[in-house]
Amino acid sequence: MTNKKETGLDAMAGDGGYKEAYLADILRTKMKRDGKRFWAGDNISDYVNEDMKDILIVEATEAFEKVLDTLLIDRETDPNSKGTARRLAKMYFNEIMAGRYETPPDCTAFPNDSEDRYEGMLVVRSELRSMCSHHHQPVSGVAYIGIIAAEKLIGLSKYTRIAQWCARRGTLQEELCVVIADAIMKATGSKDVGVYIQATHGCCENRGIMAHSSLTQTTVLHGAFKTDPSVKKEFMDNIKLQQDWAPR
Ligand SMILES: [Zn+2]
Repeated sequence: MTNKKETGLDAMAGDGGYKEAYLADILRTKMKRDGKRFWAGDNISDYVNEDMKDILIVEATEAFEKVLDTLLIDRETDPNSKGTARRLAKMYFNEIMAGRYETPPDCTAFPNDSEDRYEGMLVVRSELRSMCSHHHQPVSGVAYIGIIAAEKLIGLSKYTRIAQWCARRGTLQEELCVVIADAIMKATGSKDVGVYIQATHGCCENRGIMAHSSLTQTTVLHGAFKTDPSVKKEFMDNIKLQQDWAPR
């Protein structure tokens, strides 16, 4: 295995034990001890740095090799299956679940407190790629993020960066909607936030009911979006305007 000393966590595995211990086991023990939740949709970047990620990819490769062996796939002579275990390990850590291990996007906030501050509604459409935590099947869709700016503004691209950071984990669409709204509120300081997600789910399309045209919609509303019907209507009208315009 890769050198565990680099992680600074060798002491946790006990005397003489670290060489045999898997980093994943050590980190899980540490998170349990700290009472840190590590569900599929949780960000655990406080516990995993870049060096550790490389070690975890090596460990996950070994584990995926076992899965392929159990599936009776010949990864020794099948040229297409030779590097699959490592490809899967890298894909999970660096792509489809990257939002679990990456720190939150850096969102520089600009003041919005002068006389000519923007007081209207802002609606941003963000492409989403996620994965259902039940079957690890793809979830593809768009999020419409609505906000009434408070005393600071973040760059437009940051809304999408935040949404994608939340999405690239194992999620449920309902949960994802809540998590994105919370992250936007945190980054912008606004209490008036709405998030609407429209997505297709691999677990309905590729398995189970095999429904190729199924579409799921979820909405989470906070502040004025929830309490003021005219704000909610403006948000929904804006989504409709975007949908009429945007390629689907
Ligand atoms: Zn599923």
